[in-house]
Amino acid sequence: MLESQNISRRSLVAGGAALGCAFLVGGKLVFPTGQAVADSGETPETVQYGFWCDASFNNDFKECVEACRTANNIPADEEALCEVRDYLSKYGRYRHVFTSCMHCADPSCMKACPASAISKRQEDGIVVVDHDRCIGCKYCNTACPFDVPRYNASGMVKCDACLSAGRTEGKAPACVEAVANGALHFGPIDDLIKESGGRAMQITAPTGPSYLLS
Ligand code: SF4
Ligand code: SF4
Ligand code: SF4
Repeated sequence: MLESQNISRRSLVAGGAALGCAFLVGGKLVFPTGQAVADSGETPETVQYGFWCDASFNNDFKECVEACRTANNIPADEEALCEVRDYLSKYGRYRHVFTSCMHCADPSCMKACPASAISKRQEDGIVVVDHDRCIGCKYCNTACPFDVPRYNASGMVKCDACLSAGRTEGKAPACVEAVANGALHFGPIDDLIKESGGRAMQITAPTGPSYLLS
């Protein structure tokens, strides 16, 4: 039996939904729709950045996990800020997919935080954590539909699109740079949808995840 057939909170599975496939994440189904982020509540003038994972490359994305660990100085005994999950396509094939924070349009982690430690940047929609404010309550993990927030001695940690690792505007995050075959992209979601020629579909959830899959 494939490991991916054990559906857990850290795994994804897709079925034959009308629009292609569905994830099972945190016990909840989310369906790709191809809708723009603006449809899920974002103000039109905001450019929302996110990831596009192209599972058709059948990449194992291990290089992303290592690159994330290196860029963010994460020790070997701690989890990286991204992970490889399993995905069952509508054709019945298991694929690996890269996942990290979805930088949601309406982040439930931010709403749940009693310390106002989580915020969403106006300029690119990236969801970031202020570690000086974090009190380590873990409410954000309970609230996140994708099981993203992790915890270490400094409190909650999650992907911030490599901002705290020093990424500057216009540069790709470490995980994307590490993938040589074009299976992972980062940028304005609307641009990525166009670039994919319509193949990349945005997964949907009440939080409006900024994550495309093809
Ligand atoms: S994926 Fe989870 S942690 Fe990331 S912004 Fe959405 S709700 Fe917050
Ligand atoms: S763990 Fe930190 S970031 Fe998460 S909800 Fe609590 S205070 Fe906010
Ligand atoms: S963008 Fe940076 S922090 Fe986020 S998963 Fe990729 S390497 Fe890790």
